[in-house]
Amino acid sequence: MIGVTENLRIVSDLLHSAATEAGRDPAGVRLLAVSKKQPVEKIREMAACGQRDFGENFVQEGVAKIEALADLDLTWHFIGHLQSNKTRIVAEYFDWVHTIDKLKTARRLSQQRPDDLPPLNVCLQVNVDDEDSKSGASPAAVPELAAACAELPGLRLRGLMCLPAIRDDFEDQRRPFAQLRELRDRVRQAGVEMDTLSMGMTADYRAAIFEYATIVRIGTALFGARNGKAG
Ligand SMILES: *Cc1c(COP(=O)(O)O)cnc(C)c1O
Repeated sequence: MIGVTENLRIVSDLLHSAATEAGRDPAGVRLLAVSKKQPVEKIREMAACGQRDFGENFVQEGVAKIEALADLDLTWHFIGHLQSNKTRIVAEYFDWVHTIDKLKTARRLSQQRPDDLPPLNVCLQVNVDDEDSKSGASPAAVPELAAACAELPGLRLRGLMCLPAIRDDFEDQRRPFAQLRELRDRVRQAGVEMDTLSMGMTADYRAAIFEYATIVRIGTALFGARNGKAG
């Protein structure tokens, strides 16, 4: 045993308590285990404890793990920045992409999704609070982008994702997540269906759950620090 079993139990309990505290059904919060820079053995151990969803940020690393673990029934989420020359391999290997911020990327993924696979689940990454960040669509652009993505046959639009700057204070942490939730509601009111809010990481999962996250993306609390990162 490598030791992630206990971490998985602790994190699952934390998510469960946060949901209960927020007055939500804990079953409505899905844990996405962020396995970037973690070895295949740890993923295998976690899968043996029932964890199904894993997230990767780098295409080559993710594909190598998907191939190495092909004997397991896992769901793979691409959560890194997606360059347009890497869309084909992502469309062929992954089940979800959380980081769509341009129609061009969405169109390529839709065209390149193999016919024998179900549509690729996608979330639009929204730049909710950080004007300097290069990733994410601006909130104003999201309704139109969502409507266009919903029409693409190779994709299934699931929702919105954000990666806000880290804040220490709980109420400050909630603000960008609340913005994402309100944006989701606006898009829904315009008639575009979405069931997912992908938000919250190790440092701010609790605030995200209070703002109705349906997927929280947790790395450090499950696997420990990644290579090259202290603590
Ligand atoms: C690395 C990463 C995470 C997980 O972060 P932790 O702080 O380790 O929980 C979540 N989402 C994205 C997009 C990431 O790149």
